[in-house]
Parts: sequence; C-alpha cells; structure tokens
Amino acid sequence: MHIPDIIIAIDGYSSTGKSSFAKIVANEFSFLYLDSGALYRGVTLHAIEKGFIDDGCRIDVDGLEESLKGLDLHFGPEGTYIGERCIEDEIRSLKIAEKVSPIATVPQVREYVDRKLREFGKAKRVVMDGRDIGTTVFPDAELKIFMTADPVIRAQRRAAEMNAKGMEADLESVLRNLQERDYIDSHRSTSPLSKAEDAIVLDNSHMTMEDQMIWLKKIIEERFCK
Ligand code: C5P
Repeated sequence: MHIPDIIIAIDGYSSTGKSSFAKIVANEFSFLYLDSGALYRGVTLHAIEKGFIDDGCRIDVDGLEESLKGLDLHFGPEGTYIGERCIEDEIRSLKIAEKVSPIATVPQVREYVDRKLREFGKAKRVVMDGRDIGTTVFPDAELKIFMTADPVIRAQRRAAEMNAKGMEADLESVLRNLQERDYIDSHRSTSPLSKAEDAIVLDNSHMTMEDQMIWLKKIIEERFCK
C-alpha cells in the first residue's frame, strides 16, 4: 500500500504498545520511527546521574535546564544515545520509569525534546509515538491515533516484556507505576496527555498486532488512497 508523505502521530496511555505498533507501521510504509518517550527517559537518566532529581523526585530545575544546553541526546543505530554511549537498555528500567513522568512535567525539558522532534518531522514520512504528539508537537499531523487498553492487561504485557529481557518486574509494581505515570502525564500543566479532537481511538485490549494493522490499513485506505 502506498501512502502519501504524511506524519502519523500515535499518543496514548503508558504501555499500550504504542512503540511496538509504531515500529511495525514504520516498517510497513517505509516511514521513519521516532520514540519520543525515549528522549524523556534519556533526560531522566542524565538528571539522575548528575544529581538533578532526588529519591523524593524533587527536581533542581535551574541546574537541569542549564545542563540541557550541553546534553547530546540523540538516536543512533542501537536506539538512544548520550554522546557515544548507548543508553537504550538502561532507560527501560523501572528506576527510570519511576522518575520519568516528574521529569517530563518540566517545561524546559519539554522544550528541549520538542525541538529535537520537530526537526525530524520536517521531512514527513514519520511515525512518532508519545503523549502530546498530536496535540502539541505536530498538531497538524495528517493522521492521529490515540491508544488505550485495560490497565491490568497493559501491566501484564509490560511485566512479561521486562521479564523476557531479564529485568525484575512484579505485576503489582508495574501496574502501580503505569497508573502513576498516567495520572501525572494527564494532569501536568504543560502539554498534558489528552486525546486530540481529531484523533481516532484504538483500544487494543483484545487485539493482536495483526488486528491493529488491519484496522489501520482500512483507515489509511479510506482516508488517503481514494
Ligand atoms: O512512551 P514511554 O512510556 O517511554 O514514555 C515515558 C514517559 O515520558 C511517559 O510516561 C511520559 O511521562 C513522558 N512522555 C511525555 N511526552 C511524550 C512522550 C513521553 O511526557 N511525548
């Protein structure tokens, strides 16, 4: 299926499978895939290592803002990098997941990430997943999808994924973490997680990846291939 040069924005709750879906979509249509959450996770790793966030999630906003000027956070062959260092595995840990939503409330952090994301969008043929892609980063995206699923199903999927990678993850803490993140993400004052008015809802609680692709192709066909 050939589709025109568009931006596909995929937003939604934590662990709804946005990035797995977005990667398959990118592969299917030869689009560039961008994981905006990875950049927030990368800033979080940086903030922890440099001591800008403590165990009680108190943030030294001025220090963090100043340090972002020299932070070389980018995507590379194996995922996310700070300078030459691949941080892809580290940023997927529960330790990062516990602090990323507070970090993502900081407007200066959001500006830093948004600037990087918008650069990539200039070329179109991009599929980007996150929380505010269709509302803030690319409000003019031609196709917006908002993903949701039952929280317990999401936690089960996420815990299984982490266990498969050899990471410790009990269902209860994963469920607690994703509910906390959903709450903080939906209630922050800068670019809160919300469905864009023109986004189409995808509840994949009982859908396989194949079902989701069939669903998407039908929408694309109706909207862009007639
Ligand atoms: O998508 P992922 O779960 O990796 O995102 C991690 C966190 O980064 C989210 O819980 C949210 O706090 C933040 N985020 C955001 N805006 C985005 C993408 C992620 O605030 N566009």
